[in-house]
Amino acid sequence: SSGTHVPVLVIGTGYGGSVAALRLAQAGVDVHMIEMGMAWDTPGPDGKIFANTTQPDNRSYWLRTKTKQPLSNFLGFPIDKAVSRYTGILDAEEFGGITVYQGRGVGGGSLVNGGMAVTPKRENFGAILPSVNADEMYNIYYPRANAGLGVNTIDPAWFETAECYQYARVGRKQAQRSGFPFVFVPTVYDWDYMKQEAAGTVPRSALDGEILYGNNYGKKSLAKTYIAQIKATGKVTISPLHKVTSVAPAAGGGYTVVIDQIDTNGDTTATKSVTADKVFFAAGSVGTSKLLVTLKATGALPRLNDEIGKGWGDNGNVMCGRANHLWDQTGRVQASIPTGGIDNWANGGAFAEVAPLPTGIETYASFYLTITKNPNRAEFSWNAATSKVDLSWQTSWKQPSIDAAKTIFDKINKAEGTIYRTDLFGTYKIWGDHLTYHPLGGAVLNKATDNYGRLHGYSGLYVIDGSLIPGNTSVNPFVTITALAERNIEEIIAADL
Ligand code: FAD
Repeated sequence: SSGTHVPVLVIGTGYGGSVAALRLAQAGVDVHMIEMGMAWDTPGPDGKIFANTTQPDNRSYWLRTKTKQPLSNFLGFPIDKAVSRYTGILDAEEFGGITVYQGRGVGGGSLVNGGMAVTPKRENFGAILPSVNADEMYNIYYPRANAGLGVNTIDPAWFETAECYQYARVGRKQAQRSGFPFVFVPTVYDWDYMKQEAAGTVPRSALDGEILYGNNYGKKSLAKTYIAQIKATGKVTISPLHKVTSVAPAAGGGYTVVIDQIDTNGDTTATKSVTADKVFFAAGSVGTSKLLVTLKATGALPRLNDEIGKGWGDNGNVMCGRANHLWDQTGRVQASIPTGGIDNWANGGAFAEVAPLPTGIETYASFYLTITKNPNRAEFSWNAATSKVDLSWQTSWKQPSIDAAKTIFDKINKAEGTIYRTDLFGTYKIWGDHLTYHPLGGAVLNKATDNYGRLHGYSGLYVIDGSLIPGNTSVNPFVTITALAERNIEEIIAADL
């Protein structure tokens, strides 16, 4: 409530925020977490907490009246549909040159993501976080993050026979026939649960196409891992449907944090102000960058340095589909959790997830989300005319990603005698180059902050999320975000408390 004083306030409940809150609570500190999205702990009228990918409803999108599905078309026809405005789970946030997809709710991106939990190859780490000691990361913090997240790998024998991974086996066969290594990708899915789904003994979740709009059963989102541990400490308060709008130094020391309480229509119902000794920005790459850029430009935190808002990248995300021959069916039932990728990072700067198309029908398509070595970096800036934060990314900046992805798929198409699908992102459009699932950067480690996430200019303000990472992780990012947060919070607890 208004006027309260808290030792630590954490903005956001995704990976970075959850690591910070758990470790601080375990060190004996009382923590208050503020989350703009919903709690996602109550079933809707259909008895389920989350909507299905094939039937999006108001729960699916953050304050939209029409869905904005990443795959916007099928057989060239637009598939988006009207929904009622609601504080739903997936935010398709539109900037000038890119749509950035993000999770909204307690658990952040863990609510909506594909659960692929990948530790980068050690040889690539120097390019990902150049100021961080790789030995410490690979000996201590990556293992700690993997354990905390419940990362595990599919049973390879089951993979060979499961109907729901026919699409991945086709992807593997075609990759290998073109000379590319196919690697299993670890995940946070409960594989025993998926086996039971396949056997028909439990409600279907991954096998019912649940991804993007939440997963009702088998995926270990943060709610089942870090946040369950956070709740068990009894030292953390979580306030959903509360949005931080300002952080500024308080007269008597610490910081005044201004928070809007919102209803499920997104309208503000109350404005509160609390003081906190320490504030952790964990609102995600976009959320933290927008807050910091605004607070610097509008005079609330003028001493933040000129690195604020810079170094933003899209992790080189680009999507595409390939049309398969009739004898290479990818299957009617496709597990929504991808479990393998094509690794051409060293030679072509591309790591392609063999992704599902969980439509419930045979599509004769293979679908891929490729992570590429795209060198372009954008900047967030304050727009005084609109009182909003802009992002300088241009759609044409995806060309290096397309070129990198083509090092894999042009070769596969040639070897297989197949072609790209042109009907998934519009009419006669091959590349899904308008979006990212992996925003990174905006408050880069050792630039906007010191080498542990302490913001320059203000003691007691920290960044602890994906905005610390300068634009690319070479693989899916949440394990690296979690491991870096584990590293930084350990130092902060030891040195700053
Ligand atoms: P987030 O998880 O984004 O958490 C930030 C939280 O802060 C959010 O809950 C947000 O609502 C809240 N917030 C923002 N602003 C405010 C404010 N002003 N006040 C209060 N709260 C605020 N990564 C992988 O590694 N593997 C995958 O398989 C994968 N698949 C993905 C699929 C999709 C569809 C998407 C969208 C992402 C996927 N990702 C995946 C990316 C991954 O989810 C993100 O990188 C990760 O969640 C980022 O963690 P974070 O801690 O930086 O922030």
